[in-house]
Amino acid sequence: MAVEQVDLILTADAVLTVDAAGTVVEAGAVAIRAGVIVGVGPATDLLARFDAAEVLESPGCVIAPGWVNTHTHLAMNLFRGAADDVTLEVFLERMIGAELSTLSAATVAVGARAGIAECLAGGTTTALDMYWYPRASRAVAAETGFRLLNGPIFLGNEDPEGRDFAGMLEEARSILTDNRTESPDDDLWVMPHSAYTLSRDQLGSVRELAAEVDARIHTHASESLGELALTVQVNGDRPVAVLDAAGLLTSHTVLAHAVHLTDDEVARIAASGAAVAHCPMSNLKLGCGIAPLPELLQHGAVVGLGTDGAASAGALDMYAAVRMAALLHKGTSNDPTMISAERAVRLGTVDGARALGLADVGTIEPGMRADLQVVRVDTLNTSPVRDPWSALAYTATATDVRHTVARGRIVLRDRVLQTIDEKSALRELSEAATR
Ligand SMILES: [Zn+2]
Repeated sequence: MAVEQVDLILTADAVLTVDAAGTVVEAGAVAIRAGVIVGVGPATDLLARFDAAEVLESPGCVIAPGWVNTHTHLAMNLFRGAADDVTLEVFLERMIGAELSTLSAATVAVGARAGIAECLAGGTTTALDMYWYPRASRAVAAETGFRLLNGPIFLGNEDPEGRDFAGMLEEARSILTDNRTESPDDDLWVMPHSAYTLSRDQLGSVRELAAEVDARIHTHASESLGELALTVQVNGDRPVAVLDAAGLLTSHTVLAHAVHLTDDEVARIAASGAAVAHCPMSNLKLGCGIAPLPELLQHGAVVGLGTDGAASAGALDMYAAVRMAALLHKGTSNDPTMISAERAVRLGTVDGARALGLADVGTIEPGMRADLQVVRVDTLNTSPVRDPWSALAYTATATDVRHTVARGRIVLRDRVLQTIDEKSALRELSEAATR
């Protein structure tokens, strides 16, 4: 048999493919060519079949898909620790003030760079990012190999860039045109902040824009009881109903949080095909409540996991999100069979990809984009490994990630970031945050 050339072969103790059958390949390998996975199987087979420019051997490690973070505000790391132990309402009030005095294209780029560094160093390779100056974050992401999905944001009043709603609509068209040119293969996104910061008319305008350019929609929904009361006050109904009436509850919508839902709303979300970004760390830290994840899944809703921003969640840590998703619903149901380790890892990978409409990430299979993490499972906190699903969900932490591969490129090698200078990213973050 002729030997095929590839760019990279990764080998490890196991490959957690997260394919439909849940295949785990012991002593496995992944072969990558031009950013795409071309082979998965036993290392001995792949090393015989392919001739690789580089073979990266990782004994004591497991190879898994990179995490897909379905809700974050990357550059809010500028405000990490600035509003802890307060309600969502107080948090938002403080953030709006801090954002007005701090944000610019330059500071958002600084925040995004450190945020992407944190993501890549913790095995996350894709994120849906809702934040101001989206062009600045996209430019940074392009340098680093990180897959950042974002788009224009809409608030009812003035935005931190000084635009009114009409100005935001105008700027949105310009951003969307640029995004389509830069990433012709990726779907566009529009991001109305929420059903309480926008009027029904404004939500309708955003829907019209989304329909016009065929964009996906990302919004916050039913995060806290205070938000529910405010939405009723401003728009006369609960968030899910307001969004639905505005035509924003669609199979192309991602709702962040979805904590406070009636049975009817759970069914309505599932029937609409809208996905939920479950953000347990942020919901707990802000005392917002616990999303009905088991009920959403029982109804067939698409659910992914998100960290939310570092100001509300503490960290952009998908290991924490996966673990908390696995633990939380056992606790509320008194049922340890709820959200198994495998289920939790799926939520953080393939299910998140599905929530974002991405068919090319979330599993390790031929034809998929080579977005992977190589995770140590030979550490004090992970050994011995009986089940790699369990290791990922219950024992490994973000700092156990040894290598991260994004579109076939090694972006974290032996814990050293390759496309970001970690020291200067941290220095710039501290400088921008204290400005
Ligand atoms: Zn959020």
